Amino acid sequence: MNNSRIYLSLGLQSGFEKEYISKSFEDNWITSGGPNVDNFEIELKNYLGENSFVTALNSGTSAIHLALILLGVEKDDEVICQTMTFSASANPILYQRAIPIFVDSEIETWNICPENLEIAIKDRIKKGKKPKAIIAVHLYGNPYKVDEIHAIADRYQIPIIEDSAEALGSTYKQKKCGTFGSLGVLSFNGNKIITTSSGGALISNSKKVKEKAIFYATQAKDNEVHYQHSEIGYNYRMSNICAGIGLGQMKILNQNVIKRRENHSFYKEIFKNIKAVELFEVLNEDYFSSYWLSTILINSENPNKSREGLRLALEAKNIESRPLWKPMHLQPIFKKYPYYGKNTAEILFQKGLCLPSGSNLTTDNKDRIKEVITTFFK
Ligand SMILES: *Cc1c(COP(=O)(O)O)cnc(C)c1O
Repeated sequence: MNNSRIYLSLGLQSGFEKEYISKSFEDNWITSGGPNVDNFEIELKNYLGENSFVTALNSGTSAIHLALILLGVEKDDEVICQTMTFSASANPILYQRAIPIFVDSEIETWNICPENLEIAIKDRIKKGKKPKAIIAVHLYGNPYKVDEIHAIADRYQIPIIEDSAEALGSTYKQKKCGTFGSLGVLSFNGNKIITTSSGGALISNSKKVKEKAIFYATQAKDNEVHYQHSEIGYNYRMSNICAGIGLGQMKILNQNVIKRRENHSFYKEIFKNIKAVELFEVLNEDYFSSYWLSTILINSENPNKSREGLRLALEAKNIESRPLWKPMHLQPIFKKYPYYGKNTAEILFQKGLCLPSGSNLTTDNKDRIKEVITTFFK
């Protein structure tokens, strides 16, 4: 057995990526936007469904920022955001000088809690401002409670930005994640289910919104012969080289989902007889998770069998694992903003660990991981 580092979440290559890149060099399309970008958008549309309009961008973070802009979020507006998430979900709220309002998770999907969401909406309205948008996240590939969350948002007529950065390939009631929100967000960062090295996409349900997204993503040029600008623009379009990687990656998206789910089954087998550990599993058949990352909670009173203990034991064997996302309302940058909830996200953060889940895990890698875990809990 070798001792090379096992990373938390790396991908695979189909082998076609370089062909698409070479073609763009041959055709001199070394550009922002271009034929690969157009074709990548078409393939994503075909994957997600006819009614989705996809704008390929240079990151998932850019997609969230543009989503806020398209929904008219401005200075001092309030935007609700799931507290348990990666900071990229919330940072763009501050780019707009708007105010994030954080909401706790529930314990069944680890995502935004319907009860606390409604409490937050009511209280913000009572205090004088109706939130402009809700950012809900499918963490680790696991769909949030789509029906319940969207029913609340509809009741108060607040649009949802669906952060599906971690959930391309997951579905809720057979419908693809990324297609539920007023606007959906995907990420193709190097650690996600498919990669373009860096990249993202904004999903909408109209051609008009897509055109507006491209307008903002390409410096907001007015319809004039000369360069004329009436609005703030951004340089957020995906590069044609990156889209070439994306086209190659689309060939293995389904295979990657299968591999990530196999990783989850591998962990299920290991933890079957370890009482202190709870492997996250979806609630019922409505939820289909890519299990982008396999995650566990360690419910142990014994300090030698703690989350941090297991993390260090894995690290000692050159195996990467990570605590769950630290909730946003506990982050120094976001501490001063309102928070609605109890301590569900905090408890998840204290007990939770993300295990190596790359599409590239080999049998040899899995043997090493299993050895550490079973020894640790012996
Ligand atoms: C990765 C990620 C993003 C940001 O995507 P980038 O492409 O890295 O900018 C946003 N939200 C969540 C939940 C993510 O995991």
